[in-house]
Amino acid sequence: MTNRQRIAVLGATGSIGDSTLAILAAHSDNFDVYALSGHQRLDKLLQLCQQFNPARVCVPVDKVDDFAAKLAQAGLDSEVIGGPAGLDDIASDSQVDAVVAAIVGAAGLSSTLKAARAGKRILLANKEALVMAGQVMISLVKTHGATLLPIDSEHNAIFQCLPPSIQQDNTQIHKSSYGVRKLWLTASGGPFLQHSFAHMQQAGVAEAVKHPNWSMGQKISVDSATMMNKGLELIEACHLFDLPEDKINVVIHPQSIIHSMVEYNDGSYLAQLGSPDMKTPIAHALSYPERIDSGSQPLDLFALSALEFIAPDLQKFACLRLARQAMQAGTQATIVLNAANEIAVEAFLAERIRLTDIADINEQALSQVKVASLTADASIDDILAIDDAARRYTQTLIGQMAGQIAGQMV
Ligand code: NAD
Ligand code: MG
Repeated sequence: MTNRQRIAVLGATGSIGDSTLAILAAHSDNFDVYALSGHQRLDKLLQLCQQFNPARVCVPVDKVDDFAAKLAQAGLDSEVIGGPAGLDDIASDSQVDAVVAAIVGAAGLSSTLKAARAGKRILLANKEALVMAGQVMISLVKTHGATLLPIDSEHNAIFQCLPPSIQQDNTQIHKSSYGVRKLWLTASGGPFLQHSFAHMQQAGVAEAVKHPNWSMGQKISVDSATMMNKGLELIEACHLFDLPEDKINVVIHPQSIIHSMVEYNDGSYLAQLGSPDMKTPIAHALSYPERIDSGSQPLDLFALSALEFIAPDLQKFACLRLARQAMQAGTQATIVLNAANEIAVEAFLAERIRLTDIADINEQALSQVKVASLTADASIDDILAIDDAARRYTQTLIGQMAGQIAGQMV
């Protein structure tokens, strides 16, 4: 690669953080780890600081002093800053070339928008930012000359299967000469694909977060079990590729070898294949338009017995249906769905509700939280006000439900 890039990894202690830093460590000639952030597991963040010696580190506000003391003890002089303001500061730091947006949930929104406003190269894992603020995000990227590279594996696959002119300007997808007819998002179906709804109702946390093909953080693992993840990805794809939801199909492909497809009007389907390893899309985005070794295992084509494709069951995986419904209703609805889902997933992880309650809670929030439609020029405050209303509604609903559900849980 030509120039050594300075990288900020926001969410460095998570699963995407791990995969990203493994690649950065293997390519230290090309990349300098300029900044890191972590919210929990600060002992792990300390080890990462010892390994990469970043110029700046962001931790929760109340941990800044303690973390700075630990760094000093270790003989490191990284600057320690705190909280959401610290994340925003790193995302817009003039020294940073690329921001890896790998914080989970709404907590990643502000810094991702800051990176867009600062015209950075953004490697986006935090799909919730697009679900909450897709239009605002895409418009900031365009106005400020930022580059948005998806690292969610499905979106990265679609990006790779599109011609360079659409990669550079998503509105070009509408030009009939490019012939894009549809996008196909593949889904593994998660740990309950082969189980009944009744089985899902009784599933505990350990079973729900045990994904058959991917090793990921807890929230996205639960989202995969309910297929809310594919719903969020559907909304993410609408924004990234400037298409309505009815141009994007979802197909269950349990082997997770084809990571998604573009269907062209001459009957061609272009697909990206690879081992289910996030290092591949991350390496693609880090080095785009060049290619570097990601360290992922080559695909053993001879060991693949079959590639299956199954239509999703929208009764069992109602969250997928809700995502389409919310996308049709508008951004205010996708914000409500995302917020309700984050609260419901937390409640499931805390064993307050059952896995299958998540879809019911999300559906109730969508129909009951009354918010005005958002216009394309909505401010972040408008977005956060809706997010907050949906969170408060959902907390109350779960409070009411939890008592009744406790009696039914085994
Ligand atoms: P994770 O839970 O493993 O890591 C999350 C990171 O965010 C950690 O570094 C954590 O400290 C940080 N964080 C959590 N709450 C925070 C807060 N309030 N403020 C600041 N930082 C906070 O999650 P993950 O699996 O790495 O996923 C990260 C994002 O990438 C999610 O949006 C997820 O949907 C997306 N994604 C993940 C995968 C995957 O394979 N893990 C694949 C595609 C997309
Ligand atoms: Mg994905």
